[in-house]
Amino acid sequence: MKTLEMIVPCFNESDVLELFYKEVTPIMQSLDGYDYSFIFVNDGSRDNTLKIIKALAKKDKRVKYISFSRNFGKEAAMLSGLRYSRADFVGILDADLQHSPELIPEMLKALEEGYDVAAAKRSDRKGESGLKSFLSDSFYKVANKMTEVEIDNGAQDFRIMKRKVVDAMLSMTEHNRFTKGIFSWVGFKTKWFPHENRERAAGNTKWNIKKLLKYAIDGILSYCDSPLRLPIYLGGLSAFAGLIYFIVFLILHYGCAWALSGLHVVLAALLVIGGIIMLCLGIIGEYLARIYEEVKGRPVFIVDETNIEQ
Ligand code: UDP
Ligand code: MG
Repeated sequence: MKTLEMIVPCFNESDVLELFYKEVTPIMQSLDGYDYSFIFVNDGSRDNTLKIIKALAKKDKRVKYISFSRNFGKEAAMLSGLRYSRADFVGILDADLQHSPELIPEMLKALEEGYDVAAAKRSDRKGESGLKSFLSDSFYKVANKMTEVEIDNGAQDFRIMKRKVVDAMLSMTEHNRFTKGIFSWVGFKTKWFPHENRERAAGNTKWNIKKLLKYAIDGILSYCDSPLRLPIYLGGLSAFAGLIYFIVFLILHYGCAWALSGLHVVLAALLVIGGIIMLCLGIIGEYLARIYEEVKGRPVFIVDETNIEQ
């Protein structure tokens, strides 16, 4: 029997967890030739999530869990599941049932046919606010222009992978983890499944503008260094423009005897140069912060308790 493990990141999902379990379990049971289990990752929930997970684990030995000491974010939750899993096939599924579990049998079939990854791709954005759709579309446009890895706009975290793909993902040791970028970076033969985002079964979205913005910046900066080059071009251009400006000033002032005040030139130059310096500092700061994070070598998450034996 092959083993299949589904990782379910949960942050304040007490409203939906039992529903999730009720809906997904029959689908897992119907799979022929697979020994399935769940890894619920309690990402520092402040509601009854852990209690519910523990109750599920008590009556069903296929329910495993990892509980963090605080909220570390979905990226960390997914990583912990991947690290703890020993299964031949590992999947990731949101707790809110927005990812249709009915796709799981088809995904496994694709893996048996020779694909290494079976991943869901959003075909629409039902149940998402217009602003979020707009921001995320713009993010992928910018990210794909600026970085060398191509991240599919609709790509979701909902997927099932073979062991070798999981091992490849775990071999990436960076701390600022942008999982969608990592999926795309490791490559492998992927079959995409068009998937309609369902309405959240219960509870509220855990994202807010601040979290999304951090996610977007992390995503771009961990995959490209072109922002580092941007100030070089900008600086060069501005220096060149400044030089021309100065030459024109010299010609008008001395050649044509226009009585221009030099103060204008100084002011303009100050503004331009000041702006560029600020920009460069900002960008360098972003990278420095990341280097600092990596150098500190802090763990991505801290496990408070788990029923998984390592
Ligand atoms: N999630 C998490 N930690 C967080 C935020 C979210 O583990 O800090 C989980 C959440 O419980 C859910 C999944 O990630 O299972 C997706 O979150 P959500 O449904 O809020 O995002 P959306 O579907 O709105 O993009
Ligand atoms: Mg959701």
